[in-house]
Amino acid sequence: MIHIKTDHDVTMLRRSAGLVGDVLAEMGRRIAPGVRTIDLDRVGEEMIRDAGARPAFKGYRVGTEVFPASLCISVNDVVVHGIPTDYALQEGDVVSVDCGVELNGYFGDFAYTFPVGEISAENEALLQATKQSLYEGINRAVAGSRVGDVGYAVQQYCEARGYGVVRDLVGHGIGRSLHEEPQVPNVGRRGQGKRLKEGMSICIEPMINRGTAQVTVDADGWTVRSADGLPSAHYEHTVVVRRGQAEVLSSYTAIESALAVARGESSSVKSEADQPSSATGADSGFNRFSKLTAVMPG
Ligand code: MG
Ligand code: MG
Repeated sequence: MIHIKTDHDVTMLRRSAGLVGDVLAEMGRRIAPGVRTIDLDRVGEEMIRDAGARPAFKGYRVGTEVFPASLCISVNDVVVHGIPTDYALQEGDVVSVDCGVELNGYFGDFAYTFPVGEISAENEALLQATKQSLYEGINRAVAGSRVGDVGYAVQQYCEARGYGVVRDLVGHGIGRSLHEEPQVPNVGRRGQGKRLKEGMSICIEPMINRGTAQVTVDADGWTVRSADGLPSAHYEHTVVVRRGQAEVLSSYTAIESALAVARGESSSVKSEADQPSSATGADSGFNRFSKLTAVMPG
């Protein structure tokens, strides 16, 4: 069943997303060549527990497999669900960090893909397109739309650029459970699927490959890789469906400020965090597309 969130629920979900944002911003400060992914996981887990929360992924069970870490850290051809190891990040890697927390009974879950030092133009383009496709999806996540409208927007944006849209994993509702209905695929047909209603909270999370959309799973039961070994990117936001424009609960502002500082740029990145109750992010193209979003009945 799909839960419609009260204002109180949304407040609590925003707090949980805020903790995830703190963790991911810390990742932005730390990610650099030579840093081991297992050490990033340790830092993330400490932050989560210090905040009185619980890492939602650690101990997550699918069948007989239990996820062993607090963060999913997915390097290069790993699409999602990478298990932190003693691998030391290298210049040119792309690394997605997905963080889930349970705070006061409410879940937070979002993700960002980080460049490690200087990355190739091809990988930079992949990251940009994947992030923008997330905003294309968010712009369709309005009351009266359907789940297929969100997937269609993500799919069209990425496939037009020659990328592979992973179909084997999907976004999801979120609330007092990490994964609620509805499923939110990154492909779809306009006007198809469950209708989105005001107050539904969903995670939209495009997983986009530079090459084939096909994926494989390692013997560990978790690590999802692109079948052709080309890099993959993953961005995720948590949003509440509203009339006209979704309310984005998660924010990339602190993450991107941390990255700008790490690059020696100005840290004056202004984005969603400055206007936490609206989707008017500063990420390029977002406002422009938001304004084009039709207010649909229902
Ligand atoms: Mg998720
Ligand atoms: Mg996630």
